[in-house]
Amino acid sequence: MKDLSVIVPLYNEEKVFKTLLDRLLAAISNINFEVILIDDGSTDGTYNLILEASEKDKRIKGIIFSRNFGHQAAVSAGLDIADGELVLIIDGDLQDPPELIPEMIKKINTGYDVIYAVRKNRKENFLKRFAYSFFYKLMGKISKDIELPKDSGDFSLIRKKVVSAMKELGERNRYVRGIRAWVGFKQIAFPYERDRRFAGTSKFSFRKLIKLAYDGIFSFSYFPINFISFLGGFSFIVSIIGIFLVLYFRLFTDRNIPGFASLAIISLFLGGVQLLSIGVLGEYIKRIYDETKRRPNYIIKKTINNDK
Ligand code: UDP
Ligand code: MG
Repeated sequence: MKDLSVIVPLYNEEKVFKTLLDRLLAAISNINFEVILIDDGSTDGTYNLILEASEKDKRIKGIIFSRNFGHQAAVSAGLDIADGELVLIIDGDLQDPPELIPEMIKKINTGYDVIYAVRKNRKENFLKRFAYSFFYKLMGKISKDIELPKDSGDFSLIRKKVVSAMKELGERNRYVRGIRAWVGFKQIAFPYERDRRFAGTSKFSFRKLIKLAYDGIFSFSYFPINFISFLGGFSFIVSIIGIFLVLYFRLFTDRNIPGFASLAIISLFLGGVQLLSIGVLGEYIKRIYDETKRRPNYIIKKTINNDK
C-alpha cells in the first residue's frame, strides 16, 4: 500500500500538464506515493501526455473516461481506486499549490482525519466572487446536517478510513465536499492562498457551476421543500383573511371592492408560487429518478498502470 494517493482531475489541461507534474512530483518526492490522473474526456493532448508520463513513471496511474462526466465524477473515480493511507484531492490547474502538501501531511498527523483547504482570498473576478460568497452563505444557513465550511473546495487530504466511508454513500449527482463533510470524523480547516489558474481557461461553464450549486443545495438540504410548504401555508392564511374581509365588506358595509387589478395580481402571484413549487419538487424528483436508474457516475474507457 502507498502512503499517499494524489487525485488530479484533468479536462483539457495540456498547457498546464508539464508544470503540474514537475511541481507535484517535486513536492512529494520523498513520499511513497501514487498519482492518479483522471482524463475527463479531454479533446486536446491531455490523454497523450498522461500516457507518456505514466510510461516513464509507474507510480503515475491513469483513468481515461469515455467522455466528459464532470469534475465531481472525476474526483469520485479517483477516490474509488485510490489505495493510499492518505488521499489528496487537488485541482489540475495549479490553483491549489502542490507545495502545500508536506505541510498538510504534517498537520493531519497531529491527530486529524481530514484537512480541508479553505481559500483565504479569491483571485477570480468580482461576479464570480460574489456568486461564491452568496452560495456559501446560503448553504451555511440551510444545510442543518452538515457544516459546510465557507470557501472550502475539494482540495483536501483525507485518511483512508474516511475515504471508505465516503464511498459508502453511493449517490448519483455527487457533491464531493458535501459528502466529505457529511461523513464526520475529525476535520480541520487549512487556510491557503489560492493562486490564479496557471494556463488555459476555466473548465467550469456557468451551466456546470449552477449544476454544482444545485447538487450542493438539493442533496444536502430540505430547505427548498420546507420553504414551499411555508409559502403554501402563508398564502393559505392570507386567503382566509381575504375571505373574511370580503364577507365583512359585503354583509356589513355597502363598500364595493373593485376587482380586476387585485385579482390579476393575486392570480399572478399564486401562479408564480405554484410554478416555483413544481420546479422545486421537480428538482428532488429528478434526483430520485437518477437514483432509481442507478446509472454509474462515470464510464472508464481505459486504465493505465492500475494493477488493482
Ligand atoms: N475539470 C474536470 N472536468 C470538468 C471540468 C473541470 O475534470 O468537466 C477539472 C479541471 O481540469 C481542473 C479542475 O477540474 O483540474 C477544476 O476546474 P477549473 O479550474 O476549470 O474550475 P475553476 O477553478 O474555474 O472553478
Ligand atoms: Mg481552477
